[in-house]
Amino acid sequence: MSAQARSNLIGLTHEQLIVHLSMLGEKPFRARQLMKWIHQRGIVDFEAMTDISKPLRKRLSATTELLLPEIVQDYPSSDGSHKWIIRIASGSQVEMVYIPEAGRGTLCVSSQAGCSLDCSFCATGKQGFDSNLSSAEIVGQLWLATAQLGGFGPNAKRPISNVVMMGMGEPLLNFDNVMAAVNLMMDDCAWGLSKRRVTISTAGVVPAILRMQGQTDASLAISLHAPNDELRSQLVPINRRYPIRELLAAVRVYMDSLPDRRVPVIEYTLIKGINDHRRHARELAALLETFPCKINLIPFNPFEMSDFETPADAAVSNFRQILKQAGFTVTVRTTRADDISAACGQLVGAVADRTRRQDRYRRKLNENPDLAMGNFIICDSGRYSN
Ligand code: SF4
Repeated sequence: MSAQARSNLIGLTHEQLIVHLSMLGEKPFRARQLMKWIHQRGIVDFEAMTDISKPLRKRLSATTELLLPEIVQDYPSSDGSHKWIIRIASGSQVEMVYIPEAGRGTLCVSSQAGCSLDCSFCATGKQGFDSNLSSAEIVGQLWLATAQLGGFGPNAKRPISNVVMMGMGEPLLNFDNVMAAVNLMMDDCAWGLSKRRVTISTAGVVPAILRMQGQTDASLAISLHAPNDELRSQLVPINRRYPIRELLAAVRVYMDSLPDRRVPVIEYTLIKGINDHRRHARELAALLETFPCKINLIPFNPFEMSDFETPADAAVSNFRQILKQAGFTVTVRTTRADDISAACGQLVGAVADRTRRQDRYRRKLNENPDLAMGNFIICDSGRYSN
């Protein structure tokens, strides 16, 4: 068997591993043993897996592999966060971010090298798109960050309690690999994270949200960012295909399919003069009046290829107040890791762009440095022009 054709066991779910091992004539309990070595003890060398027979170790070494992506750079932030650049098999580099908070640690994971959706406030979208990450490259980010933070070993305390698929890429456009990776994160034989603490964040790929039913019970966050279709279609272009009503209906179907009572998180990036006015807050409250959810407000984080601006503190506070008065649970995401460009919407990596979008944006910026690098300019009155 050639090296290329080998299965990478790091990304296989419990069920997939059982099937794989049965083809080698092995019993299902071997899958559990292997998963514990890889995901709980941090061992990715078959020879060190001492409760597995020598002949099986030899066969696994000859026919499969345990391959992780490679960390090429670590940027520690003054606030205790880290941004790591990792190289994946395609040669592109993607970013993952660790954010420690009181009583928990959150890892923000990438699912694609670049992104095809090109939301106007997002640095990743400006990079174009190269490739999907494999399930091993997605769950491998959790493995790498845990190792970097000293989380393996007999007395180690796991530093990462929460995983959010909010790094580079649209997770639901890499459906199968993301499902495998998040299910490994929640599997007690692997990472055993709570399903309330593993969150898939989507810009609104409606058919994929519906397809999630029965395939996972991870939590869901929706990148809404606007209270109406006209504005959202400008900020999040996939809205032209799947408008807000369809999106919310699909989310409701998924949430209703879960065995416990959980609500989705509505992510709303506040951009100065674009979507941060009181009237937007009132419109959002009306839109979500009968839609159980929590709302997370994210003040826009500036990046090189955008001339959008961070909203004033007063605008954020007013927006929040209106939603709270309407009865919503609202959080405001405090900007973390700003000194290493690891805040929301700032992740770029180094993407071998197959769409040439990156070139187009850079060319535009060179030709006219004053040009907004979003796809449009919105004046404060809410009228749009290209
Ligand atoms: S916000 Fe998410 S879906 Fe939109 S361009 Fe950025 S990475 Fe892609």
